[in-house]
Order: sequence, then C-alpha cells, then structure tokens
Amino acid sequence: MRAGWREVVPGEALRGLHGAESAVVLTPDHCSEVSLVVRGADAAVTAAGVFADIAQGSGSDRPWFLSRQEPGARRRARRRSGALENRHDSRTDTRREAVMKDLKLTGTRPDHGRSVVEIAGVRVGEGLVVIAGPCSVENEEQTVRTAVAVKEAGAAMLRGGAFKPRTSPYAFQGLGLKGLKILEKARRETGLPIVTEVIDTRDVSWVGEYADVLQIGARNMQNFSLLREAGKSGRAVLLKRGMHSTLEEWLNCAEYILAEGNGQVLLCERGIRTFETYTRNTLDLSMIPAVHATSHLPILIDPSHGTGVLGMVEPMSLAAVAAGADGLEIEVHIDPQRAMSDKEQQLDPPAFARLMDRLRRLRAFMDGLDGDEGAGGKA
Ligand code: PEP
Ligand code: MN
Repeated sequence: MRAGWREVVPGEALRGLHGAESAVVLTPDHCSEVSLVVRGADAAVTAAGVFADIAQGSGSDRPWFLSRQEPGARRRARRRSGALENRHDSRTDTRREAVMKDLKLTGTRPDHGRSVVEIAGVRVGEGLVVIAGPCSVENEEQTVRTAVAVKEAGAAMLRGGAFKPRTSPYAFQGLGLKGLKILEKARRETGLPIVTEVIDTRDVSWVGEYADVLQIGARNMQNFSLLREAGKSGRAVLLKRGMHSTLEEWLNCAEYILAEGNGQVLLCERGIRTFETYTRNTLDLSMIPAVHATSHLPILIDPSHGTGVLGMVEPMSLAAVAAGADGLEIEVHIDPQRAMSDKEQQLDPPAFARLMDRLRRLRAFMDGLDGDEGAGGKA
C-alpha cells in the first residue's frame, strides 16, 4: 500500500479528517478515483471537523483505501493542469519561450512542479496564504494590536514596514531598528512570522535577524545588489513587481536571488503605472496565470498598493483568489484614519475579518466548481 493510505470499508463513516476539504478513495488497483461526499463543506474549510461517507460502492469485495488530502490539493492539481494545457498551446508557446529564455532557475520545471516556500511553518504555494498588517510600524500598541486582530481573522503572517520607501524625503521614513524590535514583540505575542521591507544592501543581514521574510519593494525590484544580498541572506524574499516592469524583467530579478542559492522566493504583483488616475496603480491580475505558466514560484497579490482605494481592496482580493493567486498581502491598521502612511487604503480589523470570511467562502465555492469538473468535466 502506498504511504499515507489506509484501508476503509465502503459505507464506513470516516471521522477525524480535520482540515481536509476533500478526500479520495482509490479502488485496489489504484486506477479510478472516487470522490467522497463530505458533509458540511464549511466545516471542512474551517477545520472544525469533517464527517465523510463513502458515496459509491467499489462494485467489488476488495478493500478501498483512503488518503487524507491537504486542503485545496485537488483544486490546485486541476488549476495546474489548466496551466499545463496553456503551456502546450502553440499560440502561447512563443510568448512563454520569449519570457523564459534567460531563466535557468525560476522558469517552469520539466516536471511542471510548483515550489512551496516554507516560512516558519507556513507553506506558501499550497492553498491561500494571507499576509496582513500595517503599512508602517508606528508604535508598539498599534503594531501588536493590529497583529492580534489579523491573526484572529486568519492571517498567516504579519507585514509591517520599519524602513519605508517614500516619495518625499520629508515623509515618515519608518522607525528602523526600533520598528524591527516592535515586530519581534508582535511575533512573540502572536506567533505570526514577520514580513518587512529592506531598502538598503547594508541592512540586509541584520534586518534578516528580525524578519522571516525580506520584502523587496516595487521601487527596488531592479536593485541588483540588493537582490544579490537578499539571495545570500538565507531568508525568504518577497519580491514585488516594479511599477514599470514586464513579467520577463520581474522573473529575471527573481533569478538573481535564486542564483545566490536562495530558492525561497515569493513574487508579489502590486499594480503597475498606466494612464489611469482613478486608482493609485492598475492591478494586473493577468500576472497570476502568466506566472503560473512561466515560473514555478508562488504568486501573491497586493490589492492595497495595487488600487490605493479602500473600497477596492475586497473586490480585487476576491478576484485574485478566483484567478488562482497563491496568497495576498493586505494592509490593515488598527486605526486607519491616524495611519502615518497609506491611510487611504488600509482596512480596519472588522473590514479585514469580513474579507477573510468572504475569501473562505469563495474558496469553498471554487472547490465545489472543481469538484463538478472532476465528476463530469463540465462547470
Ligand atoms: C509596501 O508594501 O509597504 C510597499 C511600499 O509596497 P510597494 O513596494 O509595492 O510600493
Ligand atoms: Mn503602504
């Protein structure tokens, strides 16, 4: 029997599938997969406990086997096979080849496997990972209270800038070391891994002592010395897309980090400059399938900087998840009106909690769609 599988009796009520969204039973010859009917999809998604029955008999008296699947595993497998189909479409191939021509390490793998980046126990590239927190670390109370609130709502990591890249040299530049110490305290209190930006090559190694993930911001995407330093740091790196950069340029920047032996890279689309002025940037959600077709790295979406408009954060987050994003980075502030940077776009904790709830329900719905495809090939 394959590792991870256990024998079950058809009709047996299966208990204890905590956190599983779906389970698959294989017939003894392992050639046909039969979906289980999982009662209470919501309960499954919220890991409250799942009770499942085997829906169909095997038609034989040989035993059936059950494997608990990780949340979202079947849906991801389908989504990837969709990306795979795109890869084999000759009309797409020319574009893909052009983007991937210089990529030795970040391009899609021969086995089409996708990277899962593990950060202090959080696995990015499987399911949906939400990073949330204030634009800037302003003081201990603001950061710790925000951290507690986002954790309660279901965020997996805390973001917060201690070094802020600001348009004006007179604007708040961040608390620096003091800010990093506050983030350390927030991590101690909540257990959330920390994502924080580094803007100077000279700071990479010591900022890495406080950060679980080093963020390289849009303005520094092509700062090649910073990329190399971050590559050497041994820390995971969240690399934002430059606001004037193409997919090819962005992936080549990730290549700089991987070329230093650091494969722990997350890409983050945060909007690009277009002629539109209603939004702060134009959030390019087409990068989600584009990255999935050209690279094995996880792709996150930042709807906060991507729109700069409070009321657009929720719809664009939902759209990103519908398009297959591996995660989101969202700005949340305990008291957005008083924020020292980006006050127009930061959610307050109740709005964030509502968004998280809607994201969970959207994912459950999408899993249902994928389940229908699995059963009949039709949506
Ligand atoms: C940020 O995330 O704090 C930030 C400054 O973002 P960006 O680099 O995308 O502007
Ligand atoms: Mn910001």
